[in-house]
Amino acid sequence: MHKITWIDTHCHLEMLDKDAESVLRVNEEEGVTHCVTIGTNHESNQKVKDYCHLFQQIFGTLGFHPHDAKNVQREQLDWIREETQKNKKIIGIGECGFDLYYNHSEEDKQKEVFAQQLELADELGVPLVIHSREAEKQTRDLLDSSEFKGLSGVFHCFTSTKEFARYVLDKGFYVSFNGICTFPKSKTIREVLSYVPLERIILETDAPFLTPVPFRGRQNRPGYVALVGNYIADYLGISRDEFSQKVRRNTQTLFQRMVYEG
Ligand SMILES: [Zn+2]
Repeated sequence: MHKITWIDTHCHLEMLDKDAESVLRVNEEEGVTHCVTIGTNHESNQKVKDYCHLFQQIFGTLGFHPHDAKNVQREQLDWIREETQKNKKIIGIGECGFDLYYNHSEEDKQKEVFAQQLELADELGVPLVIHSREAEKQTRDLLDSSEFKGLSGVFHCFTSTKEFARYVLDKGFYVSFNGICTFPKSKTIREVLSYVPLERIILETDAPFLTPVPFRGRQNRPGYVALVGNYIADYLGISRDEFSQKVRRNTQTLFQRMVYEG
């Protein structure tokens, strides 16, 4: 019988308690064929590169999380440029954006580093993985004022309103959902879920964070993207099989470097 399969488009493998081999073994049992591990700072970017090199099922993105904006050096951005140019398993830039909830870096610094990553994505022709928390206005202002018109990307861990989703969709970006939509309190997110066209949805875990129901309290892992996918398919009233195929197609349309057998 044909098996339902998923891709986790956003996890942080180096932050998991389990090593990559056992993570990938469980993924296979759970029907998760690939995962994308996301860089957040210079050290994590080096690890992303290593994972991509060691494991065929792993793709990566390189970038600087807004939390780490304060530590970014020019040479580290240059390193990302060079690595992305020569390494086809690096499929995007990020995660980048604004986080004005935690404010671990000054807002101006977050903006500067986000803008530098927009420039890189434009230059390299790869999509952005955007983190925007309590920063809708700042994110819009920066994207709208950007001279780069052909940018593509995804708003990961989407937790904003329908209005902001409209903006994201009008810009041509994708919306990524994770375990948060399974939480009892996430009514607003489920409304957004019904609002976003199927062609623009992609899925993630953000592991090790945000473990979906019914495993809250345990550490999250890429294999649990299957739970998120099943939950959303059921919620939207479409077959899990059809939904998984749609989302897989969306993922590859967005991340054009994600090429694999089968
Ligand atoms: Zn993340």
